[in-house]
Amino acid sequence: MNQLQGSCLCGGVRYRAALPVSHASHCYCTMCQKQHGAAAGSYANVASAGFAIEQGAHLITDTKPAWLPHA
Ligand SMILES: [Zn+2]
Repeated sequence: MNQLQGSCLCGGVRYRAALPVSHASHCYCTMCQKQHGAAAGSYANVASAGFAIEQGAHLITDTKPAWLPHA
């Protein structure tokens, strides 16, 4: 496996990202807890050159939410 694949919760947006993951982390701030509905938000950083939206790009309205301190 040399890539990751994923989607948003409804499946409208699908993406793929080439490995390797350069950094992975969990954030326990209250904004990430609310956004993910969990005790933490989990994140993985990959090179933008290997990242592609495969489906549903028209559904994305903002890729850098201003309220996320680590976005
Ligand atoms: Zn956070």
